[in-house]
Amino acid sequence: MYAYGPVPSRRLGKSIGVSPIPAKTCSYSCVYCQLGRTNHLQVKRESFFPKEDIFADIQKTVKNSNVDYITFVGDGEPTLCKDLGWLIDKCKKNFDIPIAVITNGSLLFKAEVQKDLQNADVVMPTIDAGTEEIFRKINRSHQNISYEKMIKGIIDFRKEFTGEIWAEVMLVKEVNDSEKSLKDIKIQLNKINPDRIYITTPVRPPAEKWAIPPKPEKILQAQTILNNTFNIVDRENGDFGVSNFTSASEALYEISSRHPLREDQAIEIEKKFSQQGTLEKMLNSGELTKYNYQNISYIFPKKFKTSNFI
Ligand code: SF4
Repeated sequence: MYAYGPVPSRRLGKSIGVSPIPAKTCSYSCVYCQLGRTNHLQVKRESFFPKEDIFADIQKTVKNSNVDYITFVGDGEPTLCKDLGWLIDKCKKNFDIPIAVITNGSLLFKAEVQKDLQNADVVMPTIDAGTEEIFRKINRSHQNISYEKMIKGIIDFRKEFTGEIWAEVMLVKEVNDSEKSLKDIKIQLNKINPDRIYITTPVRPPAEKWAIPPKPEKILQAQTILNNTFNIVDRENGDFGVSNFTSASEALYEISSRHPLREDQAIEIEKKFSQQGTLEKMLNSGELTKYNYQNISYIFPKKFKTSNFI
């Protein structure tokens, strides 16, 4: 399954997620990643799956839903998919729904990636650092991606791109939340001149146990320094679309593998199928696991995270 949802998004409303790449394939291995540590750290772009199959799956999911955005997000970095431009163009021709791309921005230095994203409506790159040192610490990029290369790629893309750029800054306690780090980030954001800046914090279980949200006063300081920000430090609310799934077990497994679920969200999904007891069975069999993070219980497939922090 390549397309899923709609899922409630704190920035995009009701969004259909599209993952055109294999699980946990990325050019970064961010300390806060909700999918755990990166298994396939790469910068080589590939056609991982037949593009026609991905588009057919998007068509099927769109047909069953009323949504605000189609979002290419990936279980990793979506610009690693060589067919991204083709997929965005097909969606633009076939549906009257805005297209968003959530990307770490690391491959935007490549002309072919810039071209692929030209027809998107919103591109949301990650800018968590203002220096190479913090970049290495928080994003742990592939050795071929330097901070300078990454940031220059985003600045160059901004000059040509006619859609909106919504930059996302993920704040992690004692990694990038100092006054100096924030001022360094602001210098780079000024060069990009994004339409919006979002401040986020790790709200779901991160790849590294210690990657936790900064203290509230540090978030306030970030708002002041980064200026004119949208904050999405709260947990999202809203329904998950399940019309593409045939059972509670399928829905719980597929959704939580991309989007770790709070226990209350998992119970709501189970209720939609009137298959009570499914979640408990999956937890008992070890298919899913429960993890407590910041006093909230989260559910996701055990095999995805066990080596990382359990
Ligand atoms: S947070 Fe995004 S960019 Fe970072 S490792 Fe996870 S998928 Fe890759």
